[in-house]
Amino acid sequence: MKYRYLGNSGLKVTELIYGNWLTHGSQVENDAATACVRAALDNGITTFDTADVYANTVAEEVLGEALKGERRESLELLTKVYWPVGPKGANDVGLSRKHIMEGINGSLRRLQTDYVDVYQAHRFDVETPLEETMVAFADVVRQGKALYIGVSEWRAEHILEAARYARELRIPLVSNQPQYNMLWRVIEAEVVPASREAGLSQIVFSPVAQGVLTGKYLPGKGAPEGSRATDTKGGQQMISRWMNDDLLAAVQGLKPIADEMDLTLAQLAVAWVLQNDNVAAAIIGASRPEQVVENVRASGVELPADLLARIDEVLDGF
Ligand code: NDP
Repeated sequence: MKYRYLGNSGLKVTELIYGNWLTHGSQVENDAATACVRAALDNGITTFDTADVYANTVAEEVLGEALKGERRESLELLTKVYWPVGPKGANDVGLSRKHIMEGINGSLRRLQTDYVDVYQAHRFDVETPLEETMVAFADVVRQGKALYIGVSEWRAEHILEAARYARELRIPLVSNQPQYNMLWRVIEAEVVPASREAGLSQIVFSPVAQGVLTGKYLPGKGAPEGSRATDTKGGQQMISRWMNDDLLAAVQGLKPIADEMDLTLAQLAVAWVLQNDNVAAAIIGASRPEQVVENVRASGVELPADLLARIDEVLDGF
């Protein structure tokens, strides 16, 4: 497993990060969750991503429990704040000083740790002055509760403005966490150039488009039992935007390209996001350990330019 630097900082993360949205505390029983974390560790992943809002705080608890006993210095833990968890009081949402300060304390308790490596703003807050947010993040860093700061799905102009505050406050703002995969390339136009300018990396989510790019969903066929597309606790709704036959047929068209590289479709999809040099890591989800074992093989794979062009041709129009 290779490591890459986050932004201009000295912090290294594994090229593949294991994340637990929709799985831990929801679709997946705790034993399977622990098995996935174990598979990640056994295959060289040391960086883990979660959020307070995943399974309404339970995902953080499950991850904290699964990582118990691991040497803290050998792990990079990432979590997030923004959305309400538990009772929805007036101040339980957003990036106010109050919500950030309360958010970090809750996350540390559930993760059973004294600090997270990267504390991320899960979304931009249009209602709170950015200066208030950044000063609160600076205080979290100075208190030693987070070592670095990140954002998630922020627009280019917000990233640039936040980076100006971060420089003034002398805190390391190192990453943006957007969706990025062969089927969803929005960040390439503005977010990536702005992040390069500001010294941030992308750590990208849904690299296999929640399972769609693994090719396991076939056009005209029902979804395989136990897959996200059959998960009535939330997954089915989240993946539904990708579940149309034309798109699923196009994904099957990638199979010969993957075969040529001796990769599975999932590995091809993960390797594809890692070709972008502003991407520090792909955050993979998994409902079973075999998926982790399969997907980690994408680390270090280089895809030649002509092959990337052929992928674009196959997916043209999607
Ligand atoms: P992926 O695109 O990696 O999808 C993961 C899902 O795809 C798995 O749970 C599994 O679902 C299926 N899958 C993965 N690999 C394989 C395989 N080899 N064969 C068959 N099926 C496979 O990412 P996610 O959408 O899960 O997101 C990953 C992480 O990114 C999250 O856990 C979270 O940490 C982060 N994230 C961040 C967001 C943000 O707003 N910042 C938003 C969303 C995610 P199944 O077996 O159930 O079909």
